[in-house]
Amino acid sequence: MLEPEQILELTKACFQSGALAGKRVLITAGPTREPLDPVRFLTNRSSGKMGFSIAQAAVEAGAIVTLVAGPVNLETPHSVERIDVETGLEMYQAVVDRAAQYDIMIATAAVSDFRPENTAEQKIKKQESSMVMKLTQNPDIVASVAKMTDGPFTVGFAAETTNLKQYALAKLTAKRLDMIAANLVGADLGFDQQENALDVYWNQNQKQQHQQLKKMYKHQLARELVKLIAEQL
Ligand code: C5P
Repeated sequence: MLEPEQILELTKACFQSGALAGKRVLITAGPTREPLDPVRFLTNRSSGKMGFSIAQAAVEAGAIVTLVAGPVNLETPHSVERIDVETGLEMYQAVVDRAAQYDIMIATAAVSDFRPENTAEQKIKKQESSMVMKLTQNPDIVASVAKMTDGPFTVGFAAETTNLKQYALAKLTAKRLDMIAANLVGADLGFDQQENALDVYWNQNQKQQHQQLKKMYKHQLARELVKLIAEQL
């Protein structure tokens, strides 16, 4: 029978020899909420499960992990530092303030592309039969990190309903990412599901590389993705 201190030492030894031993990993996860007024907001169906599973897998691989999370209903994985945010702007600030200290950034968050240009101080009343709301674009968090000189290895996600490969490769280039993991989203795919499948693309010696990670539970998929990232780092 091992003593608790011995178990701790063995666990530490495992982490120190993992594929990401000692690497610092910054992960964004979940949706963002963009307030219209004190009681309403724009958001999306992201559950945050993929990002939280990757955080867990990165810790298991020996990494030191920070998770910047939008509003989700999930437990923080063991040994992960968690920073809770609500809006896209808050997530952007939390990430750019610390990105330079990390070796890897993995952006799984479904950041709202737009936010209301103005947030009403009081609850909006239904005075007319229709209303027009002006939206303004949120900053692209992962693209801002990818263009930093000496910034971390950046991994983005592309959740698409169609033309998966085409859109994923366009994002890999446009956002200047090191790697992109693409998945189809729809009625029973991707968002808020236990399982997922990923098509991962990156460039190596000016040649496009591709690996397919077949449909499996998100925690297993996260381990496979972490393995792939560690190999390409
Ligand atoms: O929304 P889009 O499909 O462009 O998202 C692709 C990738 O960009 C994802 O990794 C997402 O986390 C990231 N992203 C971001 N900031 C945004 C929009 C998207 O980091 N404002």
